[in-house]
Amino acid sequence: MARKMGVYAVLAFVLYGLFFYWYLFQFADPKLPFEYEGTKADPATFLNGRELSLSEEYSKIRNLLFFLSTPLEWLIYFLILLFGLSKAFKRWAEDSVKHKLLHTPVYLFWLSLFAFIAVLPLSYISFSLSKTYHISTQSFPSWMKDELIDFWLNYATWLIIVPVLYWLMRKSQKRWWLYGWLLSVPFTLFMMFIQPVIIDPLYNDFYPLKDKALETKILTLADKAHIPAEHVFEVNMAEKTNAMNAYVAGIGSNARIVLWDTTLNKLSDEQILFIMAHEMGHYVEKHIYWGIAGYLLLSLLGLYVTYRMMNWAVDRFGKELKISDTKDIRSLPLFYMIISMLLFASSPLSNLVSRYQETRADTYAIEMTKNPDAAITSFQELTRNGLSQVNPPMLVKIFRYTHPPMLDRISKLEEYEVKHRTE
Ligand SMILES: [Zn+2]
Repeated sequence: MARKMGVYAVLAFVLYGLFFYWYLFQFADPKLPFEYEGTKADPATFLNGRELSLSEEYSKIRNLLFFLSTPLEWLIYFLILLFGLSKAFKRWAEDSVKHKLLHTPVYLFWLSLFAFIAVLPLSYISFSLSKTYHISTQSFPSWMKDELIDFWLNYATWLIIVPVLYWLMRKSQKRWWLYGWLLSVPFTLFMMFIQPVIIDPLYNDFYPLKDKALETKILTLADKAHIPAEHVFEVNMAEKTNAMNAYVAGIGSNARIVLWDTTLNKLSDEQILFIMAHEMGHYVEKHIYWGIAGYLLLSLLGLYVTYRMMNWAVDRFGKELKISDTKDIRSLPLFYMIISMLLFASSPLSNLVSRYQETRADTYAIEMTKNPDAAITSFQELTRNGLSQVNPPMLVKIFRYTHPPMLDRISKLEEYEVKHRTE
């Protein structure tokens, strides 16, 4: 029975992959709706032929990798259970160390290592793809170093969560999801608080803006938005990527606006000021806090559903999955799998909220800078640099886009430009 289930799962994954291959490469039509043709949002007006075809090609492959990677994770966890690997990891842990307290860390290490190695090929494909298209400029050792930081950071985080989680399961079979959620609230806030000062610097260097003349302009703008000056940072990304970005991170006294140095190198001051104003919009409207609130709400529901689904799966398929009891650590791959499924299923909703926030930030930025030309050209430049799709297929937008497609963003700015020209 277990073997049959494994074969079906692999088959389902292959069919799913074929569907997305067909959807992205055959079905989806990259042509713009005719009313956008020739506008400033039409990539044909600001990309050359080569850039146009590269961006279509690159986006298609990226999108396929995106849709394959998460279900691949589910498949891996499912097979780990079916083939008794989770059981084996637990046995190895019990055989290799005497002390009971160390069993969970050792089990977790083997499980994490196995999952890390299983998804590594796909991560590598993704990395080398972005090198081929000259997005990533990172060397292989530097990429590997980031992957290893990811691994240890993940391991450390789960090492805090997992023992508490299974202790709660043993203490309260019916309410562990609720207590777990209650504990996750301060934990999440703490992680958000330390992220920009402890976690992000593990990967890159952060420092105050180097260009002092530009810094003065940005700080004048920040002052207008009532943002204290010490919250604006630059990060060295040029050694890793050609893509541009800026973002808001952290909470409380660690809240900050971060600009990638690639953005600073490639855009004019006017364009950078628009991007900054956009980030200030997020900051001023406290989008991070709304995001955390939404996430916490959703995770309460998610943990409850996980609790129900885990019990159901163990009752129904416990024999095949080699889990006799939910509260046995052997069920951890099942927990990971369900969490990942729920995250994927809820991503259309969280992306929708995020796209709404992005639209708000764009509006804030254009109202503040009142320079539609700089705004539009900065978005065109972002599109060119990231080889991104201006008008992605529907499913890509729903599952992948935390920002509105550039078609919408540029069109909105163009509307603003037309409106204010005639006034
Ligand atoms: Zn934004």
